[in-house]
Amino acid sequence: MAPRILSLSTAKRLHYCIEYETNESRRCEDYGCHKDGGMCRCSTIDSIDIVEVYIDSLVDEIVPSKKHKMLRYGVDRILRHHKVYEPNYWDTWSIGGYYGEEVGGASLAQNISTSVDTDVARYSKLKSLKDQVEFLLQLEYGYLLDSLKGCSYRSRKVPLEQIHIGNEEYRKRVDAEMVEHYSRYPYYTAVVLREDVREFRLVDGYHRLTAANRAGDDKVNILVAIPK
Ligand SMILES: [Zn+2]
Repeated sequence: MAPRILSLSTAKRLHYCIEYETNESRRCEDYGCHKDGGMCRCSTIDSIDIVEVYIDSLVDEIVPSKKHKMLRYGVDRILRHHKVYEPNYWDTWSIGGYYGEEVGGASLAQNISTSVDTDVARYSKLKSLKDQVEFLLQLEYGYLLDSLKGCSYRSRKVPLEQIHIGNEEYRKRVDAEMVEHYSRYPYYTAVVLREDVREFRLVDGYHRLTAANRAGDDKVNILVAIPK
């Protein structure tokens, strides 16, 4: 059965996918909140600051079923590609509640939601692992490496030490915050090119691999490109 895929543009519960802090003000004297042992019901929200965007929760919103691993992985990659973790891309609002104002909802900028929905729709139509991996690599880098052309793909779990990071440039560009966001990453840690039976070269996933390494993981789930 085809998995159920929901649109980010029309999702109603997005404020559950973010962590926020509110700045509130109260005028209890004016409102007489504490008379007769009453509760404060006068707070108003002056501002809502987003502290964290939970990508995993957003994946759950778009693909509710946990079964479709490759679909969920793709949605995760698409969300990160469109940088939905940027607080600036979000809008939040408050509503009146019984105990004063509360956070009523959140939405992602319309152009970002639309881009995510479009990419998810295209990705979800792909049937083969090869098409799926290539789609995500093209999305991320804008092109496909020559060494990957004609490769078939397989998912595997391998010892971390069998994955080689060829390009020294990676090490210079490591973004500490990005690595932080990949702690306990539930999907594939990397896309690699098979060079020998137990030799894999990293193609995509430097930050994920760094996070797994720091977490002390022995083995990681990867997607292996196998040359013809
Ligand atoms: Zn009050």
